[in-house]
Amino acid sequence: MKSFRKKLAFHTKTRRAYVNITSQVQTAINESGVREGLCLVNAMNITASVFINDNESGLHRDFERWLEKLAPEKPHEQYEHNGYEDNADAHLKRSVMGREVVVAITEGKLDFGTWEQIFYGEFDGKREKHVLIKIIGD
Ligand code: ZN
Repeated sequence: MKSFRKKLAFHTKTRRAYVNITSQVQTAINESGVREGLCLVNAMNITASVFINDNESGLHRDFERWLEKLAPEKPHEQYEHNGYEDNADAHLKRSVMGREVVVAITEGKLDFGTWEQIFYGEFDGKREKHVLIKIIGD
């Protein structure tokens, strides 16, 4: 069995962002040489997410609006976590959107359902953050 590990780096210009990372994950699979196996993709920071959904900009704005209703960024002092930090909302948004995804690899490709794409969800950006890709298989 082969095992392959790769880290992706992100530094978004905005505090919140949704980045389609599907092609970067497929590149990692190509580099791994795995044809049949599993691919784990997880955020390495507790204020960012990796999730699968539709690559549709209206939906991404809907996520943004929905998450801001659930856990509004401001006022910062509404959160107990915000003593030395101002990112409590980002921790909560990450919990809702999830930490990781696992996708089957079949014949060297991500074995998606219709319209599925992998996204990096940033909720406290403007600094360096990382995503881990771990691939196992043959
Ligand atoms: Zn924090």
